[in-house]
Amino acid sequence: MNAVVAPEFLPTPLNTDKSALLARLVEGLQPAELYWVAAWSASLAAQAPSQSSAPLAVPSPVKAVGERLTIVYGSQTGNAKRIAEQLAERSEAAGLPVRLVRANAYPHRELAQERYLAVVISTQGEGEPPDDARGFVEFIAGKRAPKLPSLQFAVLGLGDSSYPQFCVIGRQLDARLAELGGARFAPFGETDVDVEAVAKPWLDKTLEQARDVLKSIAPAARISPLHAVSNRSTYSRERPFAATVLANQRIVARDNARDVRHVELSLAGSGLQYAPGDALGIWPSNPSVLVEQWLAALQLDGALDVTHEARTLTLTQWLTREREITRLNRSFVATLAATSGHAELIRVLQVENAADFSALLASDQPIDLLRRYPAIWKPEALVAALRPLTPRLYSIASSPQLVGDEVHLTVAVVDYEAHGSPHFGAASAFLAATDEDGKVPVFIESNERFHLPADSTRDIIMIGPGTGVAPFRAFVQERQESGASGRNWLFFGNRHFAQDFLYQVEWQEALKQGALHRLDLAFSRDQSSKTYVQDRLREQGAELYAWLQNGAHLYVCGDSAHMAKDVHAALIEVITIHGKQSPDDAKAWLNELLQQGRYARDVY
Ligand code: NAP
Repeated sequence: MNAVVAPEFLPTPLNTDKSALLARLVEGLQPAELYWVAAWSASLAAQAPSQSSAPLAVPSPVKAVGERLTIVYGSQTGNAKRIAEQLAERSEAAGLPVRLVRANAYPHRELAQERYLAVVISTQGEGEPPDDARGFVEFIAGKRAPKLPSLQFAVLGLGDSSYPQFCVIGRQLDARLAELGGARFAPFGETDVDVEAVAKPWLDKTLEQARDVLKSIAPAARISPLHAVSNRSTYSRERPFAATVLANQRIVARDNARDVRHVELSLAGSGLQYAPGDALGIWPSNPSVLVEQWLAALQLDGALDVTHEARTLTLTQWLTREREITRLNRSFVATLAATSGHAELIRVLQVENAADFSALLASDQPIDLLRRYPAIWKPEALVAALRPLTPRLYSIASSPQLVGDEVHLTVAVVDYEAHGSPHFGAASAFLAATDEDGKVPVFIESNERFHLPADSTRDIIMIGPGTGVAPFRAFVQERQESGASGRNWLFFGNRHFAQDFLYQVEWQEALKQGALHRLDLAFSRDQSSKTYVQDRLREQGAELYAWLQNGAHLYVCGDSAHMAKDVHAALIEVITIHGKQSPDDAKAWLNELLQQGRYARDVY
């Protein structure tokens, strides 16, 4: 076999041996397989550390950019990715040429040539893009974005209407693409936490339009990133598996005001597979105490049959299994305002009172408003006004290499008194109340951006205060079981050493066995002034920077509202001081790590 003969416009950087090896490897491959290999190598190159040599100008494989539907997604928890994949699969099944690409792997220079573009993107917390789409969003919003007079596009935004900046990233992208000259081939879609309700009609519409505009173009191979874990199970989000509870233990001191549980579930017989970093989706049932509070407050009979969208269940069944009754959202508040006519509710919904509305969402649950603003509710109207119950995601706290077909969770139980009555978090109360041998409907939500480095010699730095430590238990178990040679450094914090040092014995054992190389702790309330994980990051700055310089991967899990932002700021400080960089350069370097996936966050 001869060495690879490169096209004239693409001089080879390979020496004779590598060139011959490559020629042997690709011998006999079909065009579609060759394109797949090209895309796979490109995705490996994109993940390589920044000091690697600059990419070659490789001509775009498969079809010229404009001759296919490009689907770009930006996803934090996997919902946007799932919808984008559905669009790609359906387009492919309809014989359309399609390319599916995660936003951080999208080559910006190709935007000017795109003709048909669909973007599926979520909005995080207070109006931020998902970590994998920061660069993409910045590029399109920025001055360097090209004019797009030939572009036809469609945008689907995902969000949660219990946040004030609902779907703002999707909306901004939609407006900006139009401002750059693009024309919408499907109207902007805006999904709430019951994603499918809007996503399904949006997908239908987008596909129908894409068919029209692309029908003259012959089908071609699809290029998509590789999936790290293939789930061959027949169980899914829509068809959850009834997992048996094997253990449900309190893991904080008995007198600790807050309850945290270690829950072990059996996936035996499900075929479900997961990797450390993935999440377990739970379909909860609402607490019966809360359902009774609702019926009493509204003076409604739970045994009444209620028909909604051609399904008939009793009102108790609707409220227990089908409707969101622990979280407020704008549309429910608006319906309550219209039903009750209370001036305060009408006021708080006005745009200029957004801050009051945010405060209301943070402080109250729907039951509080139903009591404070009484109204006559018809059961059908109540069921229609409430959002469908959605699953909750928990970061998995175990490695299948160690626990086989079990899956472990770390659950902070949300259960508190407010406005004179008990309040609950739907899934945590459900899990806490499910005893051994009880059943929990579950599915796996894969999260490739939060997986361990493929190169097991890389060091990892894990920052996980509170129950944010869960995935790091899985990481350490996995690295020990697989004999990974990279070092593992954990930063953990909680309120009190003696009360809520989660998995204390396991960490100490891991240190002893060399499975954990460093453990830095920050107990916030054991001294007069608060100490947080970011204080430890600063104290250990020189060492931390040295690990990063050595190629370490950085992971953060836990609260997004405060902790993740403060940790990010502390990391910038560490890089500024110990890397002797300007704060702007430090910020850019950290963003670069985010883009590469070497700094990954699983926060909400
Ligand atoms: P928590 O309330 O986050 O508290 C853990 C520790 O963090 C406490 O010592 C707390 O101190 C401290 N803390 C408070 N503000 C902080 C800040 N700005 N920076 C750093 N540390 C800070 O613990 P939790 O109840 O276990 O809750 C964990 C949070 O993580 C929840 O918001 C949960 O939803 C989230 N979580 C997310 C994921 C995920 O996204 N995959 C997984 C697990 C948990 P003080 O209270 O003394 O101020």
